Amino acid sequence: MQYINNKFYIEKKSVKSLAEKFNTPLYCYSFKNLKTNIQNFKKTFKSISPLICFSVKSNSNVYLLKEIKKLGLGADVVSKGELFASLKAGINKNKIVFSGVGKTEEEIEYAIRKNILLINSESLSEVLKIEEIAKKENKLVNIGLRLNPDTDAKTLKQISTGKSENKFGVDEKTFIKIINLMKKSKFIRIKCLSVHIGSQILNHKPYEKMLGVLDKLLKRLKYKFDIIDLGGGMGINYEKNNRKLNYNEYKKSIIKFRRKHNCKIIFEPGRSIIGNVGIILTKVIYLKHNKSKNFVILDVAMNDLIRPALYNAKHRIIPSIKNNSMSKKVLEFVGPICETTDKFLTEKKYQNIKENDIMIVCDTGAYGFSLSSNYNLRVKPAEILIKGNKVQIIRKRQKIVDII
Ligand SMILES: *Cc1c(COP(=O)(O)O)cnc(C)c1O
Repeated sequence: MQYINNKFYIEKKSVKSLAEKFNTPLYCYSFKNLKTNIQNFKKTFKSISPLICFSVKSNSNVYLLKEIKKLGLGADVVSKGELFASLKAGINKNKIVFSGVGKTEEEIEYAIRKNILLINSESLSEVLKIEEIAKKENKLVNIGLRLNPDTDAKTLKQISTGKSENKFGVDEKTFIKIINLMKKSKFIRIKCLSVHIGSQILNHKPYEKMLGVLDKLLKRLKYKFDIIDLGGGMGINYEKNNRKLNYNEYKKSIIKFRRKHNCKIIFEPGRSIIGNVGIILTKVIYLKHNKSKNFVILDVAMNDLIRPALYNAKHRIIPSIKNNSMSKKVLEFVGPICETTDKFLTEKKYQNIKENDIMIVCDTGAYGFSLSSNYNLRVKPAEILIKGNKVQIIRKRQKIVDII
């Protein structure tokens, strides 16, 4: 994705032409970016040869899942719906792990019947429930047990998951208790230790700490796990400064860890695979000025992209056509929804913009459409996939009749 002669292109397509053809707001994805991200991720961790399970909650579009499958990844799912979508996309059941703090009986039964690689469990009650269902189905079920390593991921508190006050995983004491309890089970085999300390992590130190916690625990436990699932959480650069995760340092600490504990590694990346693959095209509906502010009212809103309202997350907004004029007015980019938090960004210096201009909300591939809603009875946007000069509609824009 780039400007060519001041016009923004996704691969071979100008976004202006896409907005005219498919209307706005519009989710657009670049196949090339997806492929590059997956290839880079694989290359980075090549010496570890991990199983890479794409975190489906970050983007659950079945067409994208099909492409992700073709590029060799498995799936990390957190609901029956996501498991269904992943299987529908052709993802191999031996490459699917099912995570989540509260899987229902229906979900567990479905996962067991589909013979997926692992159900990652997060409580004693759930392990016992899985055992009960496994017994009923007369199967030996492989599970993972999620440890809460009490590690601060140094990310937004709303997306931190690895501290003892968070609901995720079990503490060490419970972990050891469950392992000992299940040693004799005929229906459950604990094959994997899993962790996931949070999302949008840009510092490798929390990962190092987490591995340190695992190392200590494994030495105490004297129990052999075939698999260590390290979760996802690798951050991306939303602000175009130079902050990025030092993958090399993370890799080095994993290699060191594996010298002591020989095991298969699973990663569950979401954002780092799909975040910068997507953008939203949006139109300026109105410009409005009051005493202290200049509002740019867009046709995209918090129902289409809730991250700014939910996490105070920042997504850059850039023009589809650069005009090199500069205004010093303070602009506030907002959506049309009746909520004060329906606001995206404040900019102190920006080019002059007019009503009906097409704008681009950047890096919305992860936790964009998948977190969207019909609030205000607004229909969900269409999604398109661009491959070179080819464009495919991968989800139709909803119709009002579909949602009332
Ligand atoms: C959300 C989640 C992920 C993916 O996180 P990213 O930050 O998108 O990489 C991986 N594993 C689990 C268990 C999750 O809940």
